[in-house]
Amino acid sequence: MIGDTICAPATGTVGAAIAVVRLSGPDTFEILQKVVDFRSPVLEGGRVKYGVIPGLDDVLVNIYKAPHSYTGEDSAEISCHCSPFIVSRILGLLADNGARMAGPGEFTRRAFVNGKMDLAQAEAVSDLIASESQAQHRMALNQLKGRYSEGLMALRDELVEISSLLELELDFSDQDVEFASRERLVRLLDETLAEVEKLVESFKLGNALRQGVPVAIVGEPNSGKSTLLNALLGEQRAIVSDIPGTTRDTIEETLNIGGIKFRFIDTAGLRESADVIEKIGVERSFAAIDKAKVVVLVVDASSLGESDAGALADGKSGSRNGIEKEEGRHVGRNGVEKEIRERLTADQTLIVACNKVDLSPAPSGMLGISALNSEGLDELRTRICKAVDYNTDHLMVSNERHCNALRRAAASLRAVRRGLDAGTETDLVCIDLRNATAALNEIFGKQIGTEDVLGEIFGRFCVGK
Ligand code: GDP
Repeated sequence: MIGDTICAPATGTVGAAIAVVRLSGPDTFEILQKVVDFRSPVLEGGRVKYGVIPGLDDVLVNIYKAPHSYTGEDSAEISCHCSPFIVSRILGLLADNGARMAGPGEFTRRAFVNGKMDLAQAEAVSDLIASESQAQHRMALNQLKGRYSEGLMALRDELVEISSLLELELDFSDQDVEFASRERLVRLLDETLAEVEKLVESFKLGNALRQGVPVAIVGEPNSGKSTLLNALLGEQRAIVSDIPGTTRDTIEETLNIGGIKFRFIDTAGLRESADVIEKIGVERSFAAIDKAKVVVLVVDASSLGESDAGALADGKSGSRNGIEKEEGRHVGRNGVEKEIRERLTADQTLIVACNKVDLSPAPSGMLGISALNSEGLDELRTRICKAVDYNTDHLMVSNERHCNALRRAAASLRAVRRGLDAGTETDLVCIDLRNATAALNEIFGKQIGTEDVLGEIFGRFCVGK
């Protein structure tokens, strides 16, 4: 497949001034010279060439000579006027002269095959293009620039070191010498396993940052949930987008706050029928809560009775990890907050927002907001962001394929540990160790030969990248 010359539009073809058509492969320059009437020799002088495609358009062509190109092959980018007609005519001319339309991600796939980048970096190209928030962008950039791969390679090198210690022992097995001190081996192994497990764990947040961190807005009917969602969205209308295909009764919207993409889920369906409102324990709402990283419980300040205020003040249940302590109270007639708290795990955060403070003040120590008047929303946003504790300087896994490979590596390392503990023969232990190394290598694409895997990865790219 590699060996032919491919072409594709690299930009959108409507609504912009310039479009770029990309061409890569051994016949690039030959095809170009047939299609474009260049005013100076293609391979002499500067890289950008002016030319005319007779009867169609004036173009500028960027020339990249192998191996100094994105794909590692001879390639070119033709900048023309951005008209769907012009772009399709150029593609037609290129095809008439021997080029083939590229499939999704085929340019990047060639870059990978030609050793321009490893597989994790190639995947990062697609993430970079898809990034909508600073956090997504940072993760993709770290991965693209190789920092991520370097971190993983350091781990793999540790495994190689452990392997070599053990294999040395194998070579001298007849002499009853223990080259590798078991203690040192076990320590190295445990450290590496801990690192791998940390990475597996980081996927939860990495994936959330990539897909949008889920925030459930819950509360009793008429507490102001929808008004709150609209207020949060209204102020950032420009970056709001609807997510199609969400369930009938839950509204889901994404929005950027503080460089993080959040998916807000308003459990609006709760208010539709009186009999399901008895408790907030309606399945859908709880499903949203269970999936959320942050739960915003909206409480209507004007509906809090004396007993509620009393309950609010006792703060009994606020000591669990990840839950804001000052809000550890029992709110509302239905014990809604108590129920939610009982469901939450340590990595979820509950924020109780006492709404309608324009009607009656929030009990002291509680976050008071008015969704209707956009009061207190900055503080609410700050708390939502604070609940997502992330540092893109740390190695973070956001790719499911990588996470699966790391899970397998961890499983193999646990088997190694068990083997060492049980005094299993060294050559058997070495097999598990090699499996762990192989799993890590898959992330860089080192041991992926199968067409299926590469086809699956690059198939998700856009054409032209
Ligand atoms: P939901 O059922 O929880 O989604 O509640 P809605 O957002 O539909 O709001 C219920 C009612 O409360 C509406 O009439 C809103 O206008 C009103 N409301 C919401 N927020 C506020 C607020 O901050 N102050 C006042 N005074 N009314 C509010």
